[in-house]
Amino acid sequence: MVKITGFTTRDVRFPTGSDAMNAAGDYSAAYCIINTDSEFNGHGMTFTIGRGNDIVCSAISLVTPLVVGKDLDELTADWGKTWRYLVSDSQLRWIGPEKGVIHLALGAVVNALWDLWAKTLGKPVWRIVADMTPEEFVRCIDFRYITDAITPEEALDLLKKVEGGKQDRIREAEASKAVPAYTTSAGWLGYPEDKLKRLLKESVEAGYKHFKLKVGGNLEDDKKRLRIARDAIGYDKGNILMVDANQIWSVPEAIEWMNELAEFKPWFIEEPTSPDDILGHAAIKKALQNTPHGTIGVATGEMCQNRVIFKQLLQAGALTVLQADACRVGGVNEVLAILLLAAKFGVPVVPHSGGVGLPEYTQHLSTIDYVVVTGKKSVLEYVDSLHEHFLHPSSVKDGYYVTPLEAGYSVEMKPESLDAFAYPGEEGKSWWRSDAAKTILEGPRVI
Ligand SMILES: [Mg+2]
Repeated sequence: MVKITGFTTRDVRFPTGSDAMNAAGDYSAAYCIINTDSEFNGHGMTFTIGRGNDIVCSAISLVTPLVVGKDLDELTADWGKTWRYLVSDSQLRWIGPEKGVIHLALGAVVNALWDLWAKTLGKPVWRIVADMTPEEFVRCIDFRYITDAITPEEALDLLKKVEGGKQDRIREAEASKAVPAYTTSAGWLGYPEDKLKRLLKESVEAGYKHFKLKVGGNLEDDKKRLRIARDAIGYDKGNILMVDANQIWSVPEAIEWMNELAEFKPWFIEEPTSPDDILGHAAIKKALQNTPHGTIGVATGEMCQNRVIFKQLLQAGALTVLQADACRVGGVNEVLAILLLAAKFGVPVVPHSGGVGLPEYTQHLSTIDYVVVTGKKSVLEYVDSLHEHFLHPSSVKDGYYVTPLEAGYSVEMKPESLDAFAYPGEEGKSWWRSDAAKTILEGPRVI
């Protein structure tokens, strides 16, 4: 029996790049360690950028006491009930419910519990779920607010339908052939032409088939960059182009801008507008169905706050691709609910992975999606940065994610990284106390 005895939160920030909406993006982790009376502890984190991180850390310190003093077996025996309990603190619920800072914090805590559980079982998180019966899988989920789209009985049927090939798919996962990767390495705004060309060429040579570029800064510049991209990856070589606007447009602007970019035949536009605008996404998807150059799909999800919004996006026919985040929603359990919803509506899941720790998490989620939920391969973003801070970093080989086999949820950071990038950190230990940090700390907040 493992009893939870306490917890620690850590504010960790890494100085990094920018996109259309986030001028100074310090990729950060609001980090949670759950301590026990055993040799095991659970590590979880929520990805944020910079100044928001201390608020999420404070929220983690308010959510985690809900599990202190509890037995792990008791918490995991009926996970759906535990999850409901964790969102039912009426005072914390007031500042959600099930969204925003308090939900980001819940994601870190729930994921830390899964990491702890996985370590005690000696399995990676994806394998725990792969070894569950459909009944056990369904018991992980709080179905409140989604039974109009999927009932527990329907979820059971859906899981049982694909159960037949599960053992083969587990073997495929063990051989690291379950989750094809795509790259955004060339995609950032502001790269000079030669750097863009070189990065695209390297990605093609590394075996990637999917390429994603940021758009939305300047239309002529977008056209120029997409032309360079198509020159590098071709139109007829099976290579797929995606574009990401990071919520920059209104609905009419999104439609107008994407019509201008239609000649480059992107598979989808990611985050064309506000993540809360369900009907707006549906309108954009409808408007881009028949451009003179074919269909452009719509993808969103990295800032969708919970399973209810995903349910409505699916019910409204607003999504071509669903991009759930591993910790913006309330951790593994809520992601499992979202995977079921997406499967029910036949929409592929391509989890959001552009951030510190996210590929470490999502490699488990995409493996679960393939092995347990759909039996169909999707793709998963791989950003080749900041992995060196993790004990078990994610990696890609021959165009596929290398399936994690170590026990846990793969986001445990090295103790030296936790100290070296602690914010505000200790003098002489943390990078944030150095002179180099001043350009960021004293830099403009809005560019
Ligand atoms: Mg994005």
